[in-house]
Amino acid sequence: MKHSRSSYARSLIEASLDPLVTISADGKIMDVNRATEKVTGVPRKALIGSDFSNYFTEPQRARDGYQLAFSQGTVMDYPLAICHASGKITEVLYNASVYRDEEGNVAGLFAAARDITALKKAQRELESAIAQMQLIREMTDLLQSCQKTDEAYPIIKTALVALFPNTEGGVYIMEPQSRALTLVDQWGRTDLEKLFMPNDCWGMRRGRIHIAGDGRAINPICRHVKQTTAAYICIPLLAHSHGLGLIHIEYHLGGMDPEEIQRKFSIAETAADSARLALANLTLREELHALSIRDPLTGLFNRRFLEEAVDRELVRMHRADQTLAIAILDIDHFKRLNDTYGHDTGDEVLRQVAQLMSRFRRGNDIVCRYGGEEFVIVMTEIAVDAAVERLNSLRSAVESLSYKTETGTRTSVTASIGMSLYPEHGDNRLDLITRADQALYLAKNGGRNRVVVAD
Ligand code: GH3
Ligand code: MG
Ligand code: MG
Repeated sequence: MKHSRSSYARSLIEASLDPLVTISADGKIMDVNRATEKVTGVPRKALIGSDFSNYFTEPQRARDGYQLAFSQGTVMDYPLAICHASGKITEVLYNASVYRDEEGNVAGLFAAARDITALKKAQRELESAIAQMQLIREMTDLLQSCQKTDEAYPIIKTALVALFPNTEGGVYIMEPQSRALTLVDQWGRTDLEKLFMPNDCWGMRRGRIHIAGDGRAINPICRHVKQTTAAYICIPLLAHSHGLGLIHIEYHLGGMDPEEIQRKFSIAETAADSARLALANLTLREELHALSIRDPLTGLFNRRFLEEAVDRELVRMHRADQTLAIAILDIDHFKRLNDTYGHDTGDEVLRQVAQLMSRFRRGNDIVCRYGGEEFVIVMTEIAVDAAVERLNSLRSAVESLSYKTETGTRTSVTASIGMSLYPEHGDNRLDLITRADQALYLAKNGGRNRVVVAD
């Protein structure tokens, strides 16, 4: 009966997954279960009789816990780390209580350890996930305050470096004209491809994150990536389905478990989503801004832009005690041209005169389509004679342009120009434009194809 009861107790002890141990009053191990052998890597025979504190990373701390249990009768959730013979560390919480002999004297300590490695790992992961989400939120916040895409790229890069320490990579932007991806920022190494076409990247081709080189996926290596590269992620940055750029991150998978890799990818995806959204907004804003200040037919600045720019320039001229010339150029008999050759020829004349004026521009000059067949030219820091000379050469260049009409013949136009000067003819935009307009009227009345200065 006694034998069967003790064998039952033994089975119970051995069934425990937690390492159990009894320790004598002088700190020697008296009994252990299999879980203790497993966690220490030391056979039962060697464990029994040895000093219990030998098996912890901090033996003194273990002895303190033992003393505490002795003095209090019990100790709960006492944190220690068990060191396996191979060096592997297991973080545990100890629960211990004293036991007594038949006379009621304290004979030793019964201690059970609970492995909290997984708990600790989960806790660390949670903490790092919170920190990463915080970083992404900060990045999003900053991106929302950006006014231009140029400002956004360094923010994205800084956030990525913080999110993915010990990686290497770069930020590419797509040149709108050539559609080539150009390296604008990088971290880590310096031999990333500087320029390549979207077709060289699987991420850009598919319009989604591309992960390759991690040894498991069948994903092919992009052409812009060196064959020797470790695992990498290509994150295409798209806005309204057209490509804006690419984020390329290379990392070393050594020591990372598949779950950790998966987590990295989700973070990359979240960060990319946020970056993509911000960039989409910024490009939209840039496009809208361009639309709001450019004339669609000629590509010149519009009247709205001119008004703001002139006001700004006038302040600058005032401070610098400098002069400024405002000229209005109006094409002569434009209505007749439209009526004779059609509206399309008229449009072509407007485009070509606009191109001519863009080439005419120097330094801080502002050229705009003021409306209809009227253009305004602003020249800063210029004397009246020099201004008249430049405008006359513009006038004669307009005269020498020739246009093919719909009937196949060629035609040409002339232009009249009226000009006023700051501060001579006024100290504000409205007065200066009115005076230039009056001069233009005089030029028309005087026979057209001429430059007249307000008087
Ligand atoms: P003036 O020598 O006195 O300046 O005579 P004008 O015919 O040039 O002046 P007017 O103001 O009578 O006519 C301007 C014409 O310009 C009328 C309008 O139809 C035309 N116009 C305005 N905007 C455009 C445009 O975008 N394209 C074309 N083709 N014509 C335009
Ligand atoms: Mg007109
Ligand atoms: Mg006209």
